[in-house]
Amino acid sequence: MDNRDALQPLTRRRVLTTLAGGSAGALVASAGLGCGNASHAATPPPSTPDEALEALRAGNRRFVDHTPAVRSTEEIEHIWTEIAVGQAPFATILCCADSRLAPEIIFDQFLGDVFVVREAGNIADSPTNLGSLEYAQAVLGSKLLLVLGHTSCGAVRAAFENAAPGGNIDAIIAAIRPGIAGASDLDDATRRNVGAVQQRIREQSPLLREAESTGKMRIVGGLYTIRTGEVAFLE
Ligand SMILES: [Zn+2]
Repeated sequence: MDNRDALQPLTRRRVLTTLAGGSAGALVASAGLGCGNASHAATPPPSTPDEALEALRAGNRRFVDHTPAVRSTEEIEHIWTEIAVGQAPFATILCCADSRLAPEIIFDQFLGDVFVVREAGNIADSPTNLGSLEYAQAVLGSKLLLVLGHTSCGAVRAAFENAAPGGNIDAIIAAIRPGIAGASDLDDATRRNVGAVQQRIREQSPLLREAESTGKMRIVGGLYTIRTGEVAFLE
């Protein structure tokens, strides 16, 4: 992270090109920056929290449908030029460290689009993690904070089953356990954990609480199903 980024806000004109079922080669041949038509319409970056949420929804649909955005060589070079001087991610994603999910992939986003903070159990229990989330909003202008849980989460399972594997792992479990008290099963515990983490962020980060209350940012929850790739937004 570099504070100089804040001095160089980007005015990105993103040309997101989607070609369902097409080949990358065909698109590279037909598409260029500023060239929009029915098959690859130009889409500006999200400018509001609602637009940011919709961009993640749309990206996850593309991922589930196996129709990821295809970018021309020119567009990729343009993005690289932009991100070399700063960043303006439209969303922040707090998710688990689990190897079976990668936010940029499951939301079909590219370099510079999402600011990702990962920790087992998608918790934000430390000042440093909360500070990373705050940095994304206050300095980089992120408009959405998604707390993303997932199915078959080992950290939530360990907390649900009152496991104590030892070492510093126990600190993760201890952070999760209060928020899932009373859960009926692992899925219920996973949902409760997402809600508890959202609540903790609001309680422990006045900065993000204010950003939410003034409409600069939305804080939402989500649940990623590993088997299908789908993300259900929990609000
Ligand atoms: Zn997990």
